[in-house]
Amino acid sequence: MDTDADSPLTKIRNIGIMAHIDAGKTTTTERILFYTGYLHKMGEVHDGNTFTDWMEQERERGITITSATVTCYWNTYQINIIDTPGHVDFTAEVERSLRVLDGAIGIFCAVGGVEPQSETVWNQANRYRVPRLAYINKMDRVGADYFHTIQMIRERLTLNAYPVNMPMGREENFEGVIDLITMQAYYFDPLTFGYEVKQTTIPEKYLESAKSMRDELLEKVSEFSDELLMLFLEGEEIPVSVLKEAIRKGTISSQFVPVFCGSSLKNKGIQLLLDGICDFLPSPLDIGDTQGFEPVTHNPVNISPDPKGPLVALAFKVQIDKYIGRLVYIRVYSGTLKKGGSFVNQTNGKKERVSRILQMMSNRKNDLDCLHAGDIGAIVGSRFLITGDTITDGNFEVLLSKMHFPDTVISMA
Ligand code: GDP
Repeated sequence: MDTDADSPLTKIRNIGIMAHIDAGKTTTTERILFYTGYLHKMGEVHDGNTFTDWMEQERERGITITSATVTCYWNTYQINIIDTPGHVDFTAEVERSLRVLDGAIGIFCAVGGVEPQSETVWNQANRYRVPRLAYINKMDRVGADYFHTIQMIRERLTLNAYPVNMPMGREENFEGVIDLITMQAYYFDPLTFGYEVKQTTIPEKYLESAKSMRDELLEKVSEFSDELLMLFLEGEEIPVSVLKEAIRKGTISSQFVPVFCGSSLKNKGIQLLLDGICDFLPSPLDIGDTQGFEPVTHNPVNISPDPKGPLVALAFKVQIDKYIGRLVYIRVYSGTLKKGGSFVNQTNGKKERVSRILQMMSNRKNDLDCLHAGDIGAIVGSRFLITGDTITDGNFEVLLSKMHFPDTVISMA
């Protein structure tokens, strides 16, 4: 198995976004795609476009999220956002998306808190032990209460939720966010849609509460790091890297849920959430082996996230694109699927060819030559794959799922 710390797999985050209807999932996802799209563009071409030009182009094009997975880049990380329905009626669909993601963000409204519907989805995520971050949105709304919402998350969802961000003010006085890890205050410039960030020391009036919240955080996460515990007990300064590592360990082991805050509508707080996704949610390597089973005996089979291993992938969604035709979204668990190559459907023994592999971004589709273990993409060329099918190179007898959803073929706009 590829355990190299420099493996590109360490830079992949496969995440879902779970939310009660109206909590702000669409707005938050759009803002994430907006910021990451801008950053990616700047990194790839220095065409001198100003932020305003970019915003105009994006507005004209409209950021659309119609695909089952959308990929974006934040700094050196690749984030695959898997569409995760938040409605009770789609329990089977939720289970299916939980199967392919490695971590999730739960979005809560700072006014409504934990709605009964979120309990169902979060309990499903508890069953799968999905590592999660919580993002408390709408801090600008009348009645917003960050601490009450955190309390509700702790009590109703029985999660160890602790703030890593603290809001500066609330309702119409919500001015920005304090990062309790670095103890810096962040203000997001409304003229650049919150893209430009002013980072300063914490204003005096928030300092005391920020310090006591940080202490609470340190005490809690010292459970996950002996080094932090020692430093904390001795009253020593705690390096940011040590604190981040402790939070990461607690989050990945599903024993801890870091809480972020913001207002997606007012473009505040999302950049810190994006950093949190990269810093605290697991990579496919952190998740490690996936369990499949042998088709005849049903004996368990361990599948390692090794790009050089035998090909094993799961088809988790079929969509019809009006220009391209049938797109099958897959997650590769082991090996590498190549464009032009063939695969065997383990469910019915059918052999098919992959004519294209696509990575769906918010405003374009990238053609890829191959898809490695740990990654998610859409393949073109299959006529028979349906949701729940396992594909291999034909030399490895394994199934990843007992679930089949032949009726989930939907058309894309
Ligand atoms: P979804 O149903 O979870 O996808 O929620 P949407 O993103 O569609 O948001 C629902 C409503 O809440 C819309 O009218 C949004 O404009 C509004 N909204 C989203 N985020 C915020 C926020 O941070 N503050 C305020 N005041 N409204 C928000």
